[in-house]
Amino acid sequence: MNLPEFHWIEVIYLAATALFILSLMWMSAPSTARRGVWAGEIGMALAIGGTLFERGIIDYEWIAIALVLGAIIGVPLGMVQMTAVPQRTALSHAFGACCVTLVGTAEFYLRSPAVPKFMMSVLATEVILGGLTFTGSLVAAGKLQELSFIPQRPVTYKGQNVVNLAMLAVAIGLGVTLVLNPAHSILFLVMVGIALIFGVMLIIPIGGADMPTVISLLNSYAGLSAAAMGFVLNSKLLIVAGALDGSSGFILSVIMCKAMNRSFTNVLFGAFGQVQASRAAAQEARTVRSASPEEAAGILAAASKVVVVPGYGMAVAQAQHKVRELFDNLTKKGIEVTFGIHPVAGRMPGHMNVLLAEADIPYDRLKEMDDVNSELPQTDVALIIGANDVTNPAARTDPGSPIYGMPILDVDKARTVMVIKRSMNPGFAGIDNPLYYFDKTLMLFGDAKGFVGDIVRELSGNSSH
Ligand code: NAP
Repeated sequence: MNLPEFHWIEVIYLAATALFILSLMWMSAPSTARRGVWAGEIGMALAIGGTLFERGIIDYEWIAIALVLGAIIGVPLGMVQMTAVPQRTALSHAFGACCVTLVGTAEFYLRSPAVPKFMMSVLATEVILGGLTFTGSLVAAGKLQELSFIPQRPVTYKGQNVVNLAMLAVAIGLGVTLVLNPAHSILFLVMVGIALIFGVMLIIPIGGADMPTVISLLNSYAGLSAAAMGFVLNSKLLIVAGALDGSSGFILSVIMCKAMNRSFTNVLFGAFGQVQASRAAAQEARTVRSASPEEAAGILAAASKVVVVPGYGMAVAQAQHKVRELFDNLTKKGIEVTFGIHPVAGRMPGHMNVLLAEADIPYDRLKEMDDVNSELPQTDVALIIGANDVTNPAARTDPGSPIYGMPILDVDKARTVMVIKRSMNPGFAGIDNPLYYFDKTLMLFGDAKGFVGDIVRELSGNSSH
């Protein structure tokens, strides 16, 4: 018992750090993802528990109130529908960044006017990143939740990038002034205020379609600001956790940009998702072929190889369990069924994997885009369930298309294409899909859950086929 208390806390923090790293590693594969979530949760419990033993704490009353309040708000926040996870994640970043900004502000005024240069530069970085992430994440969450008072389309005006960069330059300039003379304490509040406004200005020119990528980038900023806070509070755990958060958010943004064949500058400044009036007007009325559940079931039952491509519509309709029934039914008939997963299908990375895993579809039936693309020319039926942009051949063929160059699932190379969706409405990118007008394409109009259920019923009544 001679060991000072300090050492125990360090050991607890070390265990928490190791668990955070293991958590990220395990979460990178579906088969170990659950273990990854547990590791992250235990790591966080250890981190919070360890912090409560800090010797600096003299009164637990406010901490207890904050813990209870946090739990009351956090539990319902965690219960949202899967499709609302991106905006929920954005809210979490907003809360984290708000906390970082408040702690940074409090630390400045506790230390002012004698703030050492290094500490002042870290504090300035912390509150600028924290402030812009707080308001930016709130706007991003509002856009994704389609709140009526926040425009979904990019809000742009002439000289916008110059105005934005100038604001950022002023905030950084104030930070430098404070490093040189921390006694100008009023400038600190002005700097925080500019960072808060900059967060809004940074996000409004970005369209809803790019929000998931932006949220991942804001995740990165939130992590970096937390790492800066770790330096201020002299917490190694916070530095490591912030750095992990910052780098993983950044890597995820890069993966998403690659999957959409977009650059960071294009996502941040490209105003993707503007209404393309001229293109929309140029769309001549074209005809499509539609089919009934009965006809679709007949075509599927006659196939020997089927590739199912799920998308956002399957998630909205919560059709994954019906899709599982369809998978069982077709596999029992000896038909080979695989799932083609596009990296940005749905509204967050891994969205389709999570839904299909929830419905107990075997992991080895899920194929990544490149693998499934090589199989599609030998496929009898490509069955698209609520996916649109990720199957749009314009990405390959039309240099004028906003999604030109985005890697897609080459469903048009299958012998027959069947598309379940409710209407001819576009997907998230807001553009028409030429696939629907191909001779080999059959449109199956209806809600994904209902239509797949109808096909399963037809197939079950038809099992002697
Ligand atoms: P999508 O292009 O948004 O299309 C989804 C389709 O589902 C819509 O055309 C809609 O057509 C249909 N739908 C909606 N509700 C339905 C229902 N209840 N039943 C049947 N169909 C329904 O989806 P996606 O192909 O999955 O592509 C994802 C898009 O999000 C891409 O543009 C991608 O770049 C973007 N994005 C994704 C991520 C990510 O991390 N996953 C990140 C950034 C951007 P109807 O209205 O006619 O039914």
